[in-house]
Amino acid sequence: MAEAEQARSGTYRCPVCGHRDVAELAPGHDSVVIQCSYCKTPLEVASRGPDSLRFSVQVSEQSAAR
Ligand SMILES: [Zn+2]
Repeated sequence: MAEAEQARSGTYRCPVCGHRDVAELAPGHDSVVIQCSYCKTPLEVASRGPDSLRFSVQVSEQSAAR
């Protein structure tokens, strides 16, 4: 019945530099913190739903190095 959850990939747009790229959400996660591949700003991307290929994105307050 229930299929194993798979990683979901989608696109995001960096709010800082406007760069577009692809991010991937691990199974069971609704959001993930990544770095913009262009300006290196930490970004939190979140799924808008299982049918959406575009992630919502906001600048993460968290720093990777802490
Ligand atoms: Zn950026």
